[in-house]
Amino acid sequence: RMKSAGGGSYRVYDPSMDEHKEERATLMGELRGALERGEFTLSYQPIVLSKTGKLHGFEALMRWRHPVHGPVPPNEFIALAEETGTIIALGEWGLFTACCFAASWPDRSLSVAVNISTVQIRHTDLVDLVSRALAVSKLEASRLELEITETAFLAANKETSATLQQLRELGVRLALDDFGTGYSSLSYLRELPIDKIKIDRSFIIDLPHKTSDVSIVKTIVELGRTLKMTTIAEGVETRAQLDCLRQIGCPELQGYLFGPPADEHSTLALIKQSDQRPVSLVAG
Ligand code: C2E
Ligand code: MG
Ligand code: MG
Ligand code: MG
Repeated sequence: RMKSAGGGSYRVYDPSMDEHKEERATLMGELRGALERGEFTLSYQPIVLSKTGKLHGFEALMRWRHPVHGPVPPNEFIALAEETGTIIALGEWGLFTACCFAASWPDRSLSVAVNISTVQIRHTDLVDLVSRALAVSKLEASRLELEITETAFLAANKETSATLQQLRELGVRLALDDFGTGYSSLSYLRELPIDKIKIDRSFIIDLPHKTSDVSIVKTIVELGRTLKMTTIAEGVETRAQLDCLRQIGCPELQGYLFGPPADEHSTLALIKQSDQRPVSLVAG
C-alpha cells in the first residue's frame, strides 16, 4: 500500500518482502497500460542562474499517479520501467511532451532538461528520436538538454560515445547527472562530450557547515571551468546553501528554495512572473 509518509515523500511498499515482490510485479504489469491511460504527467522544476537569480530553464520530471495507490515515486517506477522495457515508450512520450511544452513558452531563451535512461541509449536510436522530437515540436536544438546519469555510463563504450557525439552535433547539450556518485566520474569527463556537470544533492545537503563538502563542490566547479563545462548544484533548499554556492561561483542552481517540480499551469505562471523579478527573490 502506498501511504503518504509526510513531507512530500511516499512509502510504497509494506515491510513484508513477499508483499513487496507481489506489488512490484503488479506495478510492473500496470506500467504499459498506465501510459495508454494517460496516468503519467511531467512536472517542471526551475533552474536558476546564481549571479542574477534569473531563470535558465526547467528540468522535466516524470510523475505517475496510480488510480488506487496515488503518486508513485520515479525512483520506483523508472527502475521498473527499465526492467520491463516500458521505459522506451515512456521516455519517448516524455521527450516529445517536454519539447512541445517548451516550444510553447513565451520566453524563447529558456531551456528544458529531459532525463534519459541508459536503456534508451543502448536499445533505441536516440539520435533519430531526438531529431524527430525537435522536428515535431519545432523546439530549437540549443534549448534542449539531455541529462544522463553517471551510472548510465558504466558500460561506456565506443557506441555510447558515438551516440553522444551525434546528439551534440544536432545542437543539443548533454549534462552528466548526479555527478560524484558513480565510479569513474573523472574518466567520463575526459572521454565524453559533456557540456554540464550536475553536482549530486548529497554534496550540497551539508553546505556550508561541512568543510570537506565545500572543498569538493569548489573543486568540481573549478574543474568544470577548466574543462569549459558549466556546473549546476542540485537540491538547494536553504538560504545558507545558496549563499555558499554563490560564493563558490557555481553558475546554475536547482532546488526547493527556487521552486518544487510543478505542473504545466504553474510553470507557465512562473515564466510570466519571472519576467518581472528574479526567481530567487520570489522564493524569499
Ligand atoms: P534527478 O534527475 O537527479 O532529479 C532530481 C530529483 O531531485 C527529483 O526527484 C527532484 O524532485 C528532486 N529534488 C529537486 N530539488 C530538490 C530539493 O531541493 N530537495 C530534495 N530533497 N529533492 C529535490 P524526482 O522527481 O523524485 O526524480 C527522481 C529521479 O527519477 C530523477 O533524479 C531521475 O533520475 C529519475 N527521473 C525522473 N523523471 C525521469 C524521466 O522522465 N526519465 C528518466 N529516465 N528518469 C527520470
Ligand atoms: Mg536529472
Ligand atoms: Mg540528479
Ligand atoms: Mg537522481
